Amino acid sequence: MTDRLPEGWELVVGLEVHCELATATKLFCGCPNAFGEEPNTNVCPVCLGLPGSLPVLNRRAVELAMRIGVALRCSIEPSVFHRKNYFYPDMPKDFQISQYDAPINRGGRLELPDGSVIGVERAHLEEDTGKTTHVGGTGRIGGADYALVDYNRSGVPLVEIVSAPDIRSSAQAHAYASELRAILVASGASDGRMEEGSMRVDANVSVRRTGEPFGTRCEIKNLNSLRSLVRAIEHEAARQVALVQAGGTVVQETRHWDEGEGRTLSMRSKEEANDYRYFPEPDLVPLAPDERWRSEVAASLPPLPAGRRAVLAGLFGGSPTQAQLDQIRSVVTSDLDRVVAGAVAKGAPAALALARTANEVAANAERAADLDLDGFSRLLLLEAGGELGATQAKAVLSELLERGGDPTAIAKSMGFESMDEGELREVVARVVAELPEEWDKFLAGDSKVQGALIGAVMRATSNSANGKAVTEELARMRSEARGAS
Ligand code: ADP
Ligand code: MG
Ligand code: ZN
Repeated sequence: MTDRLPEGWELVVGLEVHCELATATKLFCGCPNAFGEEPNTNVCPVCLGLPGSLPVLNRRAVELAMRIGVALRCSIEPSVFHRKNYFYPDMPKDFQISQYDAPINRGGRLELPDGSVIGVERAHLEEDTGKTTHVGGTGRIGGADYALVDYNRSGVPLVEIVSAPDIRSSAQAHAYASELRAILVASGASDGRMEEGSMRVDANVSVRRTGEPFGTRCEIKNLNSLRSLVRAIEHEAARQVALVQAGGTVVQETRHWDEGEGRTLSMRSKEEANDYRYFPEPDLVPLAPDERWRSEVAASLPPLPAGRRAVLAGLFGGSPTQAQLDQIRSVVTSDLDRVVAGAVAKGAPAALALARTANEVAANAERAADLDLDGFSRLLLLEAGGELGATQAKAVLSELLERGGDPTAIAKSMGFESMDEGELREVVARVVAELPEEWDKFLAGDSKVQGALIGAVMRATSNSANGKAVTEELARMRSEARGAS
């Protein structure tokens, strides 16, 4: 990721993230909150907005919204639902129930893994709309032949998390969105799946000459992956700088990100923006969670990613390398930190447990939940002790993940029993005799050919030789040969 702004220019970004809450039912009715079902099957008079229907607030949704507030260190405040009035086919009531000037969560912060802190202005509750699909033509609204509406999503609970304009690079926006997603998942509030629309990001982007006041921002919609977020911010910032440098001015507007074309396009300017005519929702009472409920929610919050990363870092005496920090971040994000911690608790070396989990276990994440940590830790000890080479240990691990079992027995069944010394000497001597050039170089002190020699021994033994033992045997042969000459 690069920020391609010219010298002397600075980027300013604030993100608005919508996340669907992981409740069983919708925000104001008992319809299932489920993704991917047959269209218009999870609907009722309330979420279809039929006359006379009345909303009943989902307690669990309020709880999950409060969890998000606690996780983002917001203050949880008495809040009021408002009607946000606008007209669109996917919103059958012609208004969305949202929170306006009295949101449930205010004034929080999110600390990124690099230690920088982004302010959170608010995180409020609202209902999702239905989903419109434009059929025919380009698939966009203009030029489509007709539109289909699915109301299954209508009334699904959302929390909208609004950051302060504290973000200064596309990389930091990426870090903020991915840390926020990890927090939403770890807290149990949302599944955070951007590809299913559970987490959707709008980016407010402006540029300024360093040290000057904030410039006018544009809001970019339709960012449904972290990659799009980064690309859109970079593109939009470059567009604004070029515009200002050419003597123009940025107008505040909403822009659409076109992933295929790699650019943002104007959707509507502030002057044409809707007047939402907010007013308090008369069918719902104000929401004022008492102290007891708030502390129950705070106490029920599972450990969050930052704390979980600190626990793993602690396994390295608090001084992991940069590569290990990256691995720690990735295992926590993929919810595999308990695998590392579990293996280490059973005696496995931390660095190896982390590396194998971040790579091989993570690559087979569906099976990771069933991985026997005792067997995993014994396998890591076999590898650390040199009884199995890295390639062999990975093969045994793959079997352990697929079918389980005892690592020693699996290694044996794969023919990975360590060869006895006499057998190994014979093979190494034979391979060396077949590679006289390499051997001469090795004797002359060229350590680069060592890998080729070891590789040849591995091939000759179908990977059943132990790399460390081969290295030792080569060294022994070299000092013997040198002693003889
Ligand atoms: P609105 O009420 O129009 O949505 P807000 O003040 O709520 O405006 O801001 C919405 C988002 O825009 C927030 O995430 C905020 O951080 C961001 N934002 C505000 N001003 C700027 C700016 N000059 N540049 C970039 N982002 C901004
Ligand atoms: Mg806004
Ligand atoms: Zn319903």
